Amino acid sequence: MAAALWRRGWRFRWRAPAAAGRVRGAAGPAAAGQRNYDLLVIGGGSGGLACAKEAAQWGRKVAVVDYVEPSPRGTRWGLGGTCVNVGCIPKKLMHQAALLGGQIRDAHHYGWEVTHPVPHNWRKMAEAVQNHVKSLNWGHRVQLQDRKVEYFNIKASFVNKHTVCGVTKGGKETLLSADHIVIATGGRPKYPLHVEGALEYGITSDDIFWLKESPGKTLVVGASYVALECAGFLSGLGLDTTVMMRSIPLRGFDQQMASLVTEHMESHGTQFLRGCTPLQVRRLPDGCLQVIWEDRVSGREDMGTFDTVLWAIGRVPETRSLNLEKAGVKTNPDNEKIVVDAQEATSVPHIYAIGDVAER
Ligand code: NAP
Repeated sequence: MAAALWRRGWRFRWRAPAAAGRVRGAAGPAAAGQRNYDLLVIGGGSGGLACAKEAAQWGRKVAVVDYVEPSPRGTRWGLGGTCVNVGCIPKKLMHQAALLGGQIRDAHHYGWEVTHPVPHNWRKMAEAVQNHVKSLNWGHRVQLQDRKVEYFNIKASFVNKHTVCGVTKGGKETLLSADHIVIATGGRPKYPLHVEGALEYGITSDDIFWLKESPGKTLVVGASYVALECAGFLSGLGLDTTVMMRSIPLRGFDQQMASLVTEHMESHGTQFLRGCTPLQVRRLPDGCLQVIWEDRVSGREDMGTFDTVLWAIGRVPETRSLNLEKAGVKTNPDNEKIVVDAQEATSVPHIYAIGDVAER
């Protein structure tokens, strides 16, 4: 996407401020200690890294800032964004683990004398997945270095149209300014804050791939991509897994296909609570989580106990901490995404937004 944006002529528009002398911050010349770039990318996920590397190959002076705010549960990870750390990559590896389990179960039909049951060791799988992800974090760091892209592990917020202030974990501040800025901060999972105990006791996809111990009997709330993918591999690993669905599965997706997906999952052990919404989560003296929910079909309340409650009810864009108003970048008030045009430019022409944080 970033490469396409580049090819579509971004580089032509780029020359104007350089020829006229650097625009170093709307407030005037660069402050002492301030670092200046042709391009500053905020967010080191798939979009941000691709964009930064492409720009550097065109000979531009580029910096990437990336900072992972730990999840409410305290999970943190490295460079590479959602896909690498808490999305596609660990998900596919855990699916692979689940698929292998299925093959082991089928193997005796093909003459393999496997003694059943074959136990699965979550700790071992998680360690292997996490080590793989860490190797990718490292690979991204090396790629940036090779292409002479400067990387800062700092949390950025706008000071003005051309300048951001980055703060390290230890509280040290750095000012970075650039002719062009790309916002690629993605999004984070939502918590149903109206549900008592949701934040205190629940986890999200930001945590599940980094658990050192098995989540055990799990309630997955939500019925879209994240929910069904997580429930799929948890069931496949032999865990007692229930999906709480308030309406339909995979809204927006072909419903005939969505039914095939849920039927397949049910036939492979995933349980579904249909037409139900959670009301409360509390911890019982034995450590289990008791979940109370409303069954909208019967109109009654019901409850169950689980070891883990996984919220998979959608994601919110990471725009709140960016101080976008200082730069004049407009967001859609309904979903907090950054409004962009067909060239991925925001309401401020030299500031772009790409990926999950942007809305066309
Ligand atoms: P999502 O697509 O926004 O769906 C949210 C799900 O949670 C829906 O089933 C929704 O039900 C339910 N929900 C919302 N609020 C709820 C509440 N308060 N109580 C109970 N249920 C609630 O969320 P997502 O699965 O997290 O996906 C986020 C984004 O990532 C999407 O754009 C998705 O396409 C993308 N993604 C893609 C892939 C892939 O392509 N493989 C994988 C993962 C994620 P209703 O339908 O009733 O609203």
